[in-house]
Formats: sequence, structure tokens, C-alpha cells
Amino acid sequence: MQVITTVKEMQALSKKMKAEGRSIGFVPTMGALHEGHMSLVRSSINDNDITIVSIFINPTQFGPNEDFNRYPKDHKGDMKKISALNVEAVFLPGVAEIYPKGFSTFLYVGGIGGVLCGASRPDHFNGVATVVAKLFNAVMPERAYFGQKDFQQTVVIRKLVKEMNFDTDIIVCPIVREPDGLAMSSRNAYLNEEERMSAVILNKALHYGRELMLSGREKQTSSIRAKMDALIKSAPLVTIEYIEIVGPQYLEKMKDVTFPAVICLAIKIGNTRLIDNIIVRSDEQSAVSFQQREKM
Ligand code: AMP
Repeated sequence: MQVITTVKEMQALSKKMKAEGRSIGFVPTMGALHEGHMSLVRSSINDNDITIVSIFINPTQFGPNEDFNRYPKDHKGDMKKISALNVEAVFLPGVAEIYPKGFSTFLYVGGIGGVLCGASRPDHFNGVATVVAKLFNAVMPERAYFGQKDFQQTVVIRKLVKEMNFDTDIIVCPIVREPDGLAMSSRNAYLNEEERMSAVILNKALHYGRELMLSGREKQTSSIRAKMDALIKSAPLVTIEYIEIVGPQYLEKMKDVTFPAVICLAIKIGNTRLIDNIIVRSDEQSAVSFQQREKM
């Protein structure tokens, strides 16, 4: 497995692979890799001739009071995990390689970057779009793999690719969870024992919200959100940033319960900000009534 640190070398490898007719799958990450990341890597290996994984903690997607300087790092562990799989190269650029002195060209994603997580992280998605565009220009992948875990990010990236004419297919992979339902995240490492126990409430609340939506009894999303809010507040150490029920394509807030929808939430447990989401589809509604019919 090659370790590449410059854009030039990355482009040279990708051009060589393309000339040989090999398809490139790309998995961008910020490291501290866990099973969620590795599921993307496996999907890429499955779909493509070669897979490139990048590890880059992108400073432009962190706000001034956020955790850029203490973001979890595990270089040795990451290398071990990646080299156990059939990955062609790890792209490991330094900050000066991606943002050389005098760098000033940024992408602006518009209103889609100002809702949900963007309300409290105003420049986050501009930073994400900028770095993803730069990484795509370095790796030139046929396909790039992102996790549903960061649902708003997948919407922003799909829009970026469409509107900036990147010749890359975006593949969104399911959320990988711990056995108790907590979505895997590099930031889970910040949680102490008590906080870790409380964190289970995110997934519980999402399932509760989904059940309410599918029950047919709730017509308004506001009442579902209120019930989820009360459930979450029953857990210790939590502060709710937002609970929203939105459309999957444009992230518009829904007033009436309609399908498909995505329930998205951001919650602070102690000082750690965690996000999670669940897609609720009407076919699940029919699956539920089908199961009920079967029971009868
Ligand atoms: P990050 O290193 O947090 O920037 O994440 C890199 C990629 O891994 C992003 O596309 C994330 O959405 C994805 N990812 C992170 N956690 C999970 C998870 N639990 N399940 C699936 N994908 C994930």
C-alpha cells in the first residue's frame, strides 16, 4: 500500500490507473477510523478496481470554538486497519499541501449549508465542499463513498457534484452502529462512561420518532418532535441542538407527516456534539401493516 502526501503524486497515480483502464473508488475521511469508515472502504473495494482512502483533518470545516486542535488522531491504528484491506493508496496530505500560503478560493454551498447543522456551524459545509472538491481533483475517482451518518453532508456533496460537473458518482452507505445502537463516530472517543450511557438516547429517540410517523396517528411533525424532545430530555447530561423532520433531497422542514422523510438530530452530551438520523419511507409503513396482517 502506497502512502501519498502530495496532490501531484496523487494525480500521477490516478492518471496511471485510469490509463490502465482501472476504476478508482475513493473514501475521504478525517481518520481515527472505525467500522463506519471501514464499511465505506469495503463498499469501494467491492465496486472498483482500486480504492484510495484519504485522511485529512480539514481545518476549514471547523468553527473557531470547535475541536480542530483536539480532534481524535490514531495514525498507527488507521494504517493497520487500512493495510488489512485491499487499498491501493492512502492519501495523507498536510494542511499546507491542501491550503498553501495565500490560499483564498472557497466554494459556497448556499442555503442548504445554513440549515440543520449549518445553523450552528455557519461555514462548515463551505469548508466541506471546498476540501471535497480539492480531494476529487487530486484523486479523480469514478465513485466516492460517504456515510448516511452525515446526512446533510451527503445532500451537499451530491449538489456540489451536480452543480460543479464532477464526473464522480456519489455512493451513500448505511450508518454503522455500536451493538446498543449508538452511531459510530470518531467523536464518541470524547465520551466518559456516564455520557456514553446517555448517548444511546439519540438512536432511541429516532426510532421512537419513526414509530410515531408510521403509526398514522400523528399528522403534524411538530407533535412528533415534541415527544422526541421529551424523551431525549429524560436522559442525563443532554442538551438538544435540534430535532428536525425534513425532506431527503432539499432538507426542507416538513409540517405534515409525509414520506419519505429524514429525522435528523444534533445533541450535546456533556461537551460532545453528536449527530444522527433515520430515513423513514412509506414502504416501511406498508411493511408494518403487512406484518400486522401476517400476525392476524
Ligand atoms: P469523518 O472521518 O467523520 O469525516 O467521516 C468520513 C466518512 O465516514 C463520512 O462520509 C462519514 O459519513 C462516514 N461515517 C462516519 N461514521 C459513520 C458511520 N457510523 N457509519 C457509516 N459511515 C460513517
